Parts: sequence; C-alpha cells; structure tokens
Amino acid sequence: MVKEVHVIGGGLAGSEAAWQLAMAGVPAVLHEMRPLRKTEAHQTGALAELVCSNSFRSDDWTSNAVGLLHEEMRRAGSLVLDAGDQHKLPAGGALAVDRDGFAGEVTRRLEGHPLVHVAREEIDGLPPADWDSVIVATGPLTSPSLAKAIQSLTGEAELAFFDAIAPIVHRETIDMSVCWLQSRYDKAGPGGGSADYINCPLDQAQYDAFIDALIAGEKTAFKEWEASTPYFEGCLPIEVMAERGRETLAHGPMKPVGLSNPHRPGVRPHAIVQLRQDNALGTLWNMVGFQTKLKHAEQVRIFRTIPGLEQAEFARLGGLHRNTFLNSPVLLDASLRLKAHQRLRFAGQITGVEGYVESAGIGLLAGRFAAAERLGESLSPPPPTTALGALLAHITGGHLSNEAVRSFQPMNVNFGLFPPLAAQPKRAKGERGSRTLARKHALASRALADLDRWLKRGTSIAAE
Ligand SMILES: Cc1cc2nc3c(=O)[nH]c(=O)nc-3n(C[C@H](O)[C@H](O)[C@H](O)COP(=O)(O)OP(=O)(O)OC[C@H]3O[C@@H](n4cnc5c(N)ncnc54)[C@H](O)[C@@H]3O)c2cc1C
Repeated sequence: MVKEVHVIGGGLAGSEAAWQLAMAGVPAVLHEMRPLRKTEAHQTGALAELVCSNSFRSDDWTSNAVGLLHEEMRRAGSLVLDAGDQHKLPAGGALAVDRDGFAGEVTRRLEGHPLVHVAREEIDGLPPADWDSVIVATGPLTSPSLAKAIQSLTGEAELAFFDAIAPIVHRETIDMSVCWLQSRYDKAGPGGGSADYINCPLDQAQYDAFIDALIAGEKTAFKEWEASTPYFEGCLPIEVMAERGRETLAHGPMKPVGLSNPHRPGVRPHAIVQLRQDNALGTLWNMVGFQTKLKHAEQVRIFRTIPGLEQAEFARLGGLHRNTFLNSPVLLDASLRLKAHQRLRFAGQITGVEGYVESAGIGLLAGRFAAAERLGESLSPPPPTTALGALLAHITGGHLSNEAVRSFQPMNVNFGLFPPLAAQPKRAKGERGSRTLARKHALASRALADLDRWLKRGTSIAAE
C-alpha cells in the first residue's frame, strides 16, 4: 500500500496536483473548505472554480507563452486542460470555457477517482505531524488561520498579502541611445556592480506632462474587501503620489540625485525613472516603485511617453490587489518544498505565479514531484527552456533577490522567462511576419522538443 499525500485547497493547483498523484498511483486526500467556508471571491462548492474571467487566454502555442503552457500541460496529462478542452466555448484564438461545465467536470473526475478522497474541511493551522507529505495550494485567498500558521514557519516578511506590481519591460525594447546604465552614486550592491539600473531622464516639461497624464489617467477601482485592508501607506500607487503633490514623485521614486547622463553631460534631468533587472537572464526589467492602479491601456500609453521607453513592450503591467504569496526564491527548493520543513510543498498562486493556467501548471509539477518522492523515485525539474520549467525557475530562484527589501512579485508566464536562443532564427523562405514572431516560434519549438524528452525520461529510482 502506498501512503497518501495530503493536498490542501481544491482550486486550480490543488485539483491538478491531486490528479497527477492519482495518475501516478499515489492516493491523494484533497482538503477543500468550500462550501462550508467561503472565500471573498468564490461562489460555489465546486473544485477548480474560476473566480473571475472564464478565459485561459491564448491557445496559440506557436507564438504565445501561455498557449505553449497549455500544450505542454496537455502533453503531461493535465486534468485542468482536458476539462477545459471538453467545455470550451467559441472565443477566437483564446481558450475560454463554460465555467460551470469546467468546474463540474474537474469535481466529477476527482470525486470519482478511486485514489482520490475529497474531504470538505478547513485546515486551520499547521497540518498534523503525521502528515509526512503535504501540498499547500490554498491560493491568493488562503484562509487567515492557515496563513498565520504558514507565517509562523516562514517569518512575517516572507508571506505577503498584497501584490504591489510594478510594470516589467522587455530589455530589448528599451532605447539605450537615450537611457544609460548606472547605480545611484555608482554604489555597488550586494548582488551586482555600480551600473545595475537603467535610467530614463525627463526634463521639466516632460515631467510636467507625465504628472498631468498620471492624474488624468483612467484607474481601476479596488474591490470592497481590498479597500478595507490597511496596506495603503506602505506602497502608494504612483498616481496617488502625483495627486498628493506635483513634485512628490521627483523627490520619491523618480528622484534624479546621484546619477549623470552620459548622453548629455552637464545637463541635470528634472526626474529619472529607474528600471532594475528582474530575472537572472537580464531580459526583463522592472520600473522601480511604479506600482499603479491605472488601467492597462493607460499604462502603455502613459509609460511610452517616458524618454527611452517610446517603443517599450511590457511583459507585465502594474497593479495592486489582494494576494497571499510566499517569497518563494528564498523559501522553496527546486521541487517546491519548503527548505526548512520539507514535508510541506507549495503549489499554485501562493508560490508567486499569476493566473489560472500558471497556477494549475505549478500544481501539476508539485503533484509529480510529490508522487515521485512517495514512490522512492527521483524526478528532475523540467528544463528551463520549457514553459513549465521557466515558470518553476522564476519562482524557485531565477529572480534576482539582491535587494534588502523583498522584491519578488508574482508573474504570468511570458517569453522573457525563457533562456534566449543561441542564435537569432532566420525566417524560412516565403515566411511572413516579424523577427520577433520567428523568435517566438523557435522558442516554442525548442520548448516542446525539450518537454517531450523530459516526459519520456520520466522518473528514475532514487536509489540508483
Ligand atoms: C478576485 C480574483 C480574481 C482573479 N481573476 C483571475 C482571472 O480572471 N484570470 C486568471 O487567470 N487569474 C485570476 N486570478 C488569479 C488566480 O489565477 C486565481 O486566483 C487562481 O484560482 C489561483 O489558483 P490556486 O489553485 O492557486 O488558488 P484557488 O483557485 O483560489 O484555490 C485555492 C483553494 O483553497 C481553498 N482554501 C483556502 N484556504 C483553505 C484552508 N485553510 N483549508 C482548506 N481549503 C482552503 C479555497 O477555498 C480554494 O478553493 C484572480 C484572483 C482573484 C483573487
């Protein structure tokens, strides 16, 4: 008899993890508190309920990173993707699903599986000591008592309750004939040198126009339950700072001190926007201190008025919303176990990925890692060239954590997380489209070839 693995939380990640365990022949007990206890967003008792949109986003694996993640998960036998495909609705290139049909399918398949037991209960503290393998997949709205228990293991600073998301820009789209690399006062940090930031200079007129645009820009509203959470003073959105005084930003995140523009020596900018490297590959850079509630289209319009960012492509746009997540690059090992308490694994949005599909993808990996461990086999992580591997690398160490303050923030899957290609691909004869598209095609083909090899290799006996 193989001993069971406990999965806490029957959302996107927990449902997928329980399925992967069962498919590997390992019994799973799935503990879900709904419908006995609800979250602020869920409405039903169904497993894998979609709390907002009914879309899994683009299904195009050839040129979209989330579409590629879909395809990888299909190849890895994902329940979430299979149920999504069975209940899909017409939505152009996106995979949109009938939400009740989808969640009903996941619930029926799990409740009907002989190796899965669904226990409707809240786990309101640390799991009992005799649960020697546990996957915690309780999501962005983890119940407060469990969150407190997790905090007692990780330390207060390592479990956040809000995303304060600053926009992230693809490095190759920043105009370095306008911007330059320099750290403030040329000071070297613990993880780098004296030229770690990209600086974008604004003169007085550009700064004034930027402040006007921020104040006039269209914003999204907080949900009622988010507005009542007291985080606000600690991380103000830039537009709120601008409303408090026209020069507040020039004395805050946009202060121009300790920096000199090599493109215009002797001319002191009125304000400077700084970008800091966001992944070890150096392909993604985040706009420091630029958390915002501006609508996404407004962010693109307004941030492209910043000198050097006129052609910027954004890997992620800014936002602020309630979200419980770990400082995973510090806390988790490469198989998603808490380094200090290895019987606990984490999966889903609580690990610092963002989105239904990404959460389910990390659930898939957690389920496979836990199953291999239970069966005495070893399973290497998927290669970082795959969408699953790139996401895993992002949350378990790919992110640079060289700041004194906690800087890890959740992320959707995107091609900026993938190691670059050895050489720029050539377009095939007669092939239409841009070089960027050719690069995405090449990244996607490489990912699927590497994923197939990883799936074929499977697990090996740990003792070997
Ligand atoms: C309001 C809101 C809207 C969102 N909208 C979107 C969107 O439109 N598109 C998108 O891609 N992503 C969206 N997300 C982000 C995210 O992708 C989803 O929240 C996703 O469901 C996360 O998957 P998960 O499995 O990690 O968590 P969840 O799907 O939330 O699952 C966690 C489960 O754990 C249960 N649980 C919590 N605590 C306990 C406990 N102590 N004991 C037992 N069970 C417990 C919960 O009831 C829940 O069923 C949204 C998030 C929020 C909060």
